[in-house]
Amino acid sequence: MAESVSAPDTFKVHGTGGDLIFMGPPGVGKGTQAKALAQESGWIHLSTGELFRDHIRRATELGRTVKTFLDKGEYVPDDVTVELVRDRLEKIGPSTRVLFDGFPRTVAQAEALDRLLADMGRKVAGVLILEAPRDELYARLSSRATAQHRTDDTPEVIANRLDVYDEQTRPVISYYEDRGLVKRVNGVGRVKDITTRLREALDNGS
Ligand code: ADP
Repeated sequence: MAESVSAPDTFKVHGTGGDLIFMGPPGVGKGTQAKALAQESGWIHLSTGELFRDHIRRATELGRTVKTFLDKGEYVPDDVTVELVRDRLEKIGPSTRVLFDGFPRTVAQAEALDRLLADMGRKVAGVLILEAPRDELYARLSSRATAQHRTDDTPEVIANRLDVYDEQTRPVISYYEDRGLVKRVNGVGRVKDITTRLREALDNGS
């Protein structure tokens, strides 16, 4: 068991170089917040969910492969997901920082990302976790289903996505916690207040 490392010393990601991982359960508002943070910091926002949806919209071969998984609320296989990320990262300059949104979602992906970043001379500077209670997430996802007509927002699929997150993605948090890289932020409240909390977490690490 790794010793617990105090976050303030390790979690100063502004100005230290390195990439940031942004995690959180479905419906927590990760996408909205990641976009805002990346924009104000000049980081590249790399959302695997968005990249997959873009392939589906363009009806590419990859899009056809991943659609069945997304429609059921299941994760796309790790090898497919890691290849997509590798491909995207190869187009990004070494000094441009990346905000990973929705990746890694499994421990195997986290291990693959470590290898990928090491090969490219990059590293993970911090991991931000945006959190909210399950009933709040369920309610938000249900209303988004009505508003955006996302095929992965039906009631059964929503419940499945929340379960899959608990089973497969929570262990990824422990993976990074052991390295003292994790910072948790409360995702309940007004969008702009949450952006402020995230910004403070990034700047102060406290
Ligand atoms: P949300 O955060 O609301 O679940 P995303 O846009 O991040 O939405 O992801 C939508 C879907 O895309 C996921 O439910 C999953 O099927 C697929 N997906 C996204 N990222 C990954 C990943 N890293 N590994 C496997 N599947 C993924």
